[in-house]
Amino acid sequence: MTELAKRRFDCLVIGAGGGGLRAAMQLAQGDAHVAVISKVFPTRSHTVAAQGGMNAALGNVVPDNWHWHMYDTIKGSDYLGDQDAIEYMCRAASRLVIELEHFGVPFTRLDSGRIYQRPFGGQSQNFGGDQAARTCAAADRTGHAILHSLYQQNLKAKTHFFDEYFVIDLLVDDAGYVLGALALNIETGEPLVIQAKTTMLATGGAGRMFRTSTNAMINTGDGLAMAARAGIPLQDMEFFQFHPTGIAGVGVLISEGVRGEGGYLINSQGERFMERYAPNARDLASRDVVSRAIAIEIREGRGCGPNKDFVYLKVDHIDENIIKKRLPGIRELATRFAGVDPVTDPIPVHPTAHYTMGGIPTNRFGQVVAPLHKSAEEPVPGLYAVGECACVSVHGANRLGGNSLLDIVVFGRAAGNHILDFLAESRYHRLIPDDCIERAMQRLLRWQRKDGSESISVIHDELRLLMEQHCGVFRTQEVMDQGIKKILQLEQRLQHAVLNDHSAVFNTARIEALELENLMDVSIATIISASQRTESRGAHSRLDYPDRDDEHWLKHTLFFKEDRHLEYKPVRMKPLTVDSFPPKERVY
Ligand SMILES: Cc1cc2nc3c(=O)[nH]c(=O)nc-3n(C[C@H](O)[C@H](O)[C@H](O)COP(=O)(O)OP(=O)(O)OC[C@H]3O[C@@H](n4cnc5c(N)ncnc54)[C@H](O)[C@@H]3O)c2cc1C
Repeated sequence: MTELAKRRFDCLVIGAGGGGLRAAMQLAQGDAHVAVISKVFPTRSHTVAAQGGMNAALGNVVPDNWHWHMYDTIKGSDYLGDQDAIEYMCRAASRLVIELEHFGVPFTRLDSGRIYQRPFGGQSQNFGGDQAARTCAAADRTGHAILHSLYQQNLKAKTHFFDEYFVIDLLVDDAGYVLGALALNIETGEPLVIQAKTTMLATGGAGRMFRTSTNAMINTGDGLAMAARAGIPLQDMEFFQFHPTGIAGVGVLISEGVRGEGGYLINSQGERFMERYAPNARDLASRDVVSRAIAIEIREGRGCGPNKDFVYLKVDHIDENIIKKRLPGIRELATRFAGVDPVTDPIPVHPTAHYTMGGIPTNRFGQVVAPLHKSAEEPVPGLYAVGECACVSVHGANRLGGNSLLDIVVFGRAAGNHILDFLAESRYHRLIPDDCIERAMQRLLRWQRKDGSESISVIHDELRLLMEQHCGVFRTQEVMDQGIKKILQLEQRLQHAVLNDHSAVFNTARIEALELENLMDVSIATIISASQRTESRGAHSRLDYPDRDDEHWLKHTLFFKEDRHLEYKPVRMKPLTVDSFPPKERVY
């Protein structure tokens, strides 16, 4: 094999969203030699699209407390979240919001000058009492503000950026050490080996598995698939969040912040139907609850429009000035994608694929932990994961709105600190054996074949439709088993696919193919994990097993790619300092 170009760093961060950038900043400020690699320009990462805000119990609008936030997060997770990690996150939240403010995030203000906080779903005061207002917002462009500020901080700290490089695979030696990654310069098509003492996956979610999605085109679960190929199991993949309010037929997100500001859902009879499903929290019940309610309304014939296939989100009763000040981006999206001005007309909405709760198993220091080679669970040497691709697990079976921006900042920082400690004791790079580079190169070379009968884009569309039809808001054994069969056939067809267009757009076509392979792996992990869990919990909702079953299923799923088998591990019910919150019936 000809010698490939090679670069060397203390730490390679794969992904320039909020998770990767918060970690990289910590590392660069701690004088580590750190590189961030991203397949798109850093500030185009999906974090930029986050609208509603980030949770922290600042108590600026109504009284609040991190312990209440912890309770809400555990209840929201349907008791599948690990309580030590949740305590850690909720305790750190206020300090990290204020830190972001000092980095330059222009949070919206109250008249008092304090940071504005809006009510979001699943938030309560006093362990299940009145609605809390915990979500710190920069109008409806919070992610945009956070991502740009973190990027600036990294430029200042001299983080090295590889922009528009696609990571093909991790480099792992036979002893299981992760030694860096093989990447492709998208513009030139040149491969590049990046050697690192520690490698961090911060590649975001896999929302493009489903046909209608709020996620950007780039959210194809690359990091999840890379980890799976390295023998690391994927945790809790059956838990995928459907956001209640995507614009019907389009999928573009209308933030929960709209309901936080007083918007509510109505069916074709003009009825505010959430009052029936969640008498207390109503439209601000947890996302899984609201998405199911909408799906039931539509199924029972109370949907709106000529095909009765969506419901309306009513906003026109809210003061026009509030809409203009706090929801300007939403107004723009509704006008552009639904053709309605929310100041005067309701927005047609439908549940839409949104967030990957499952992911690469980590502890609260961001270390990837897995039972490799059939041993007990232990840290995978040299590998970290943070953000939506990781499963700490703070979101369990259902994430609360506003907790993901928090998750990426909290655990990005924690992982950065842990790596700094590790680097202080690790002065030398391990050697990269040639065969592990060759293995990664094979993935790339496969797509040089010129013969084949199947098209990447056709398989891509079919996969996303199958996932929507067979692994959506409501699931049954029969429907999922059919789905698995069809998806495995599709996987076979992918073996016979050729690039869509060799001559004109060679690299883009090649990257689409690599992304589709990743999406395929992640979809298979999701639907197989879902088909095995015979209960309903959080976002995993089965018509044939409608109840939660703590006796048999209060445990995390681990899916192994190699032979597609599943293992399970206990939920960590013990917090760090406070008493545990034992499972109880979950009503809103
Ligand atoms: C429309 C929308 C609105 C949201 N609103 C909110 C909200 O209001 N509050 C909240 O808490 N959460 C919200 N979320 C969720 C939250 O924004 C995300 O979970 C979070 O920002 C993910 O951050 P991340 O750093 O993990 O990944 P991302 O921001 O998705 O970044 C992933 C990075 O990985 C890189 N990458 C991926 N694969 C490769 C590869 N193969 N090679 C090289 N680079 C790669 C990408 O280029 C990118 O830089 C929202 C999500 C969406 C989709």
